[in-house]
Amino acid sequence: MFKRSFIGTAVVSLVLAASPFVIVSSSLAQETVLSDQEQKLLAWVDQRQDDILNELKTHVEINTGTANIAGLNQYRERLSNDLNALGFKTQTHSSSDIDVLSCQGGSIQIADHLVAKRSGSKKNRVLINGHMDTVFSKDDEFQTLKIEDNGVLKGPGVADMKGGVVIMINALRALHAQGLLDDTNLTVLFNSDEEIGSLGSRALIEELAKQHDVGLVFEGTYNNLATRARKGLGQARLRVTGRESHAGGAHEDGVSASLELAHKVIAVEQLTDYQKKVTVNTGVLSGGEKRNTVPGCADAYIDMRFPSLEAGQKLEQNINEIASKVVVKNANYPNLPKVESWTVLHRPVKPENAKVDEIIAEAMALSAVIGEPITGTRYSGGGTDGSIAQGAGLPTMDSLGIDGKGAHSSREESTVQSLIARTKLAAVMLARQLHK
Ligand SMILES: [Zn+2]
Repeated sequence: MFKRSFIGTAVVSLVLAASPFVIVSSSLAQETVLSDQEQKLLAWVDQRQDDILNELKTHVEINTGTANIAGLNQYRERLSNDLNALGFKTQTHSSSDIDVLSCQGGSIQIADHLVAKRSGSKKNRVLINGHMDTVFSKDDEFQTLKIEDNGVLKGPGVADMKGGVVIMINALRALHAQGLLDDTNLTVLFNSDEEIGSLGSRALIEELAKQHDVGLVFEGTYNNLATRARKGLGQARLRVTGRESHAGGAHEDGVSASLELAHKVIAVEQLTDYQKKVTVNTGVLSGGEKRNTVPGCADAYIDMRFPSLEAGQKLEQNINEIASKVVVKNANYPNLPKVESWTVLHRPVKPENAKVDEIIAEAMALSAVIGEPITGTRYSGGGTDGSIAQGAGLPTMDSLGIDGKGAHSSREESTVQSLIARTKLAAVMLARQLHK
């Protein structure tokens, strides 16, 4: 049986943030001693530091941009084999294509997701998850992992979240080596569409969330701060259809889709209200094809962040209202321009949760002993699949992965030290949860 022994009392308190966005440090007054078994988990990781780093390099260098179905298939296959070797039963789950409202039209194909399960008689049913995809397409220049002398790691997805995936796999191996996966109830989910908002995997995450008692997501920390609560996220698309016409010979015969969209973008951006923690960002905008033609189509792809479901719904309503009020007029074409909108609130708000706070406090206490301490908590404007899981009723800590910065850019980096320390932390945290 798995035994835990503490010498002294673990007293960890999370200092509450006076207001969201304020990063707080936590007072750690504690003396934790790891059990012999936990010490063995750490030793297992220590002995494999080079292997773990090499494995991360392999993971980073398999391109898994969300649209790279072949790359994701290869990566999923690899993870599936790794989990089979640890006694998991694996299964793939497919998602339907997502239709895209844009001038080009078409749809987004989503690679299959991977679910791996072990079941036993232990009471606490644990769901751990990570995403396989990254924002870096196979044409991106950023494709390899650079390991610098000072331990800095630079590579696509090293922090978001190949580092987290490698941590998960190696923590599971460490447990397996000690027999600590035996008789447990553990599900591992690797989805392939997190970076486009888990539009395909959401239902699967919600279904799994309802079958478990606690969730751990291995997205990373930033500045070694765990995320305690998160904003909700939404997305919107606008497509404007006008009428193409020669910009010189028949300007008056055209209806500019770009001009109409310009009005829409200004109105939509004015929905941002920092005081209310509501932001709107028109991240992608395009219109027309030729300089000397009045543009016949224009489209925009918009991001929304909000602190409550009501605020998110209000944003959706406002955007749809803006879409319905046409500004550009041409008496010859009274039905143009035509404006279509599509909105979705794809990640619920993730509020503070007492059970999650306990897990964060435990992670902070353990990391203080293990190394690369998690020193506080933050409120984040970014979402993870933990928001979906918790929205479906599963208390979920979602920042147990590698520490890093520069995610989604060619400056993305992390460190070897964090990779190793967080693998140890993951092993101990998982062992404790699985044997509760
Ligand atoms: Zn991520």
